[in-house]
Amino acid sequence: MKTSLSFILFFLLTISIDSIIVDATCWEHPNPIKPFEKKISSICGLQKKTKDKLKAEVGKESQKDEVHSLAANEAFKFDFSCGVPDKALCTKAENAFKSAGEIIANVINLVTPVTVNATFTDFCKALNECDGSILGAASAARSIPLLDDDKVVRQYPQALAKQFLLDPTPQWGPFDIQAFFNAQADLFFKGDGVIKKNQFDFEYIILHELIHGLGFASAWNNYFSEQPVALTPDPNFLEMITELSQPVKFTGFEENAFDKYMVNTRVKGTPKRMTEFTNEINSFAEIGTDFPSVQALLNAFGDSRQFQTSSQLILDGQTPKTMAFQPRNASLNDLVFLETNLKPFRIGSSISHMDIKTFDNDPDFLEVFNAKPGQTLDQVLKATGGKAPIGPKLKSVLETLGYATNENPNPYRPTLPSDSQVTPSQIPIWKSTNNQSSSATSLTSSFNVLSLFVIVAFTLSF
Ligand SMILES: [Zn+2]
Repeated sequence: MKTSLSFILFFLLTISIDSIIVDATCWEHPNPIKPFEKKISSICGLQKKTKDKLKAEVGKESQKDEVHSLAANEAFKFDFSCGVPDKALCTKAENAFKSAGEIIANVINLVTPVTVNATFTDFCKALNECDGSILGAASAARSIPLLDDDKVVRQYPQALAKQFLLDPTPQWGPFDIQAFFNAQADLFFKGDGVIKKNQFDFEYIILHELIHGLGFASAWNNYFSEQPVALTPDPNFLEMITELSQPVKFTGFEENAFDKYMVNTRVKGTPKRMTEFTNEINSFAEIGTDFPSVQALLNAFGDSRQFQTSSQLILDGQTPKTMAFQPRNASLNDLVFLETNLKPFRIGSSISHMDIKTFDNDPDFLEVFNAKPGQTLDQVLKATGGKAPIGPKLKSVLETLGYATNENPNPYRPTLPSDSQVTPSQIPIWKSTNNQSSSATSLTSSFNVLSLFVIVAFTLSF
């Protein structure tokens, strides 16, 4: 049977996948409300600064080779745009950002400030998201391909890549994290008194979203249809594609840093690394194969044996406790189960969150996909017995990704890939297209699909 796949343009904001290693084009996403609008960066490549010079800049008080972590109130830099006229509300929102940044920086030790492009606005007006269900959305503003110790190049969020003090230094984009917050939501701010039944603690929402931007974000997703049909890592070879008739070079599906530690637990007792599935799926065609059109590539993939694997994986993505993050040195008893309860699969909520059944009433509540109305962050902490908003498992996830903490001051670090190690998928293939012109294709109707890692207002019952 022929499987026909369509292709929904999918904008996770993690889109700027441009090599800083080779002399290639870099992409900027200047408008946080319209992340699909890209422009070619005028500068791209390696900075000329030496590591010593950089250290002198980042750790002003640092001596010699010692790099000190930043003070909590210096660790996050928020470029805050307030899209509502209520100035007092804007001030309260801005203060909540600062407070959330400090909470994170008191847990992880940052040596380079994390820059956040934060927009607080009416989602209905700005994003045409009018049902009020999405409270916030965020992702990395740029990702950097780095070489992991298993010889796989994965996309690292810029916020994390900056902490590694790579030498030579990649050319960074202006922001590490892009985040949107819905000013139309019924929000509670510190100092407001008693939280109302339907209110959401804004600081809690910010914290949740910043954690996504720091790297709690899988590339495994449902990219090819409105319906859940196939789970794959990021098809970066479709970046910049505007028509199904365009020729395309298959350069492989690509994982994020997070995916290195993801395991599939369908077979109880013997978790399988998701990277093994990536390798299998990537073998459907030889890397570098030129297809006459995107549709031809999708048809070939749909007919392949490897497609059956991705079809099974999308079922796993809707089956409780079938996918997990395995923190470094964690035993099988310490897997952090991910969100695979949602059926149908929900882009933005499935997988890139912690399992709601396990963690909703647990000290690791922060990264479940829905927020808790009527409870302040402090009240949730009290109710779950947590000591800090970043629970022990979430902390172990961040440490595993490469963030330093007091308990784990020397985390794992990936390295800069050499030219030969950068697969073609990190090199943009297409010349700039004029994004402003609306080409009348079957895909344009999907151009405004804005899929991010979100936190939602409603609760599902299971
Ligand atoms: Zn989320």
